[in-house]
Amino acid sequence: MEGARIGRLELRRADLRFPFPTAFSDRVSGTRIVGLGRRAKYLLIDLDSGETVIAHLGMSGSFRVEHEAENELSGAFHHARSKDEKHDHVVFHIEGAQGAVRVIYNDPRRFGFMDLLPRVDLDNYPAFRQLGPEPVGNALDAAGLAARFAGRSQPLKAALLDQSNIAGLGNIYVCEALWRAGLSPVRAAGTTVTPTGKPKKELVRLVEAIRAVIADAIAVGGSSLRDHIRTDGTLGYFQHTFRVYDREGHACANPECDGTVARIVQAGRSTFYCSRCQE
Ligand SMILES: [Zn+2]
Repeated sequence: MEGARIGRLELRRADLRFPFPTAFSDRVSGTRIVGLGRRAKYLLIDLDSGETVIAHLGMSGSFRVEHEAENELSGAFHHARSKDEKHDHVVFHIEGAQGAVRVIYNDPRRFGFMDLLPRVDLDNYPAFRQLGPEPVGNALDAAGLAARFAGRSQPLKAALLDQSNIAGLGNIYVCEALWRAGLSPVRAAGTTVTPTGKPKKELVRLVEAIRAVIADAIAVGGSSLRDHIRTDGTLGYFQHTFRVYDREGHACANPECDGTVARIVQAGRSTFYCSRCQE
């Protein structure tokens, strides 16, 4: 999409979770995409008009790419994506170097949304103002997390899902990172901090685990994509990439542990963990 022109933005309804921004189609149609980015779970599409499209997938949203010529799909996801056309709500008609392409936003439950605002105003966007550091890059470190976690009785799981502590970590990767770090999701966040506010070694371990989980997920996603399309061409589940998430009742993947993965519910979300090796 980068460098390509959006010939037309097609809206097939008036809203998603929220109404589309004023004159959304007119302001996006005919612009050129100068960059694609991300902040937390928000996708950013920078346009040569100086405005940026902000898109959030909600619970069930997905983009798929269809080449006008071949109708082929690009991408593979843990959660199978809906291809039901009645849930195709937004279509970016792209005129790129590889010909005409449709980038289609599909969202059966419509918890996703899109917004459009001047690039220079992004930092003041309400959803961005309170976001913590990104989990990739140098902004996240154990000392910074220690300052946020000190004295907190909130469970570690909830503290990690709190976007003001770390931006963009979701349920799956929080479960995976806690398992890798050998930390219980129910222990109080403050127990990873010394009385003088320094990170304990387990918090240092947790930060390393968060980075590693994300790096591995990106790497595995890339290689699975090609393998998967070559074998059967369908989209599906990639649970083999997870060590603990969605593995209730399975043996713990830690070779030094004979525990079993359990599922509990914390703040309405499933937590998968091993009570034997996560302390
Ligand atoms: Zn275990």
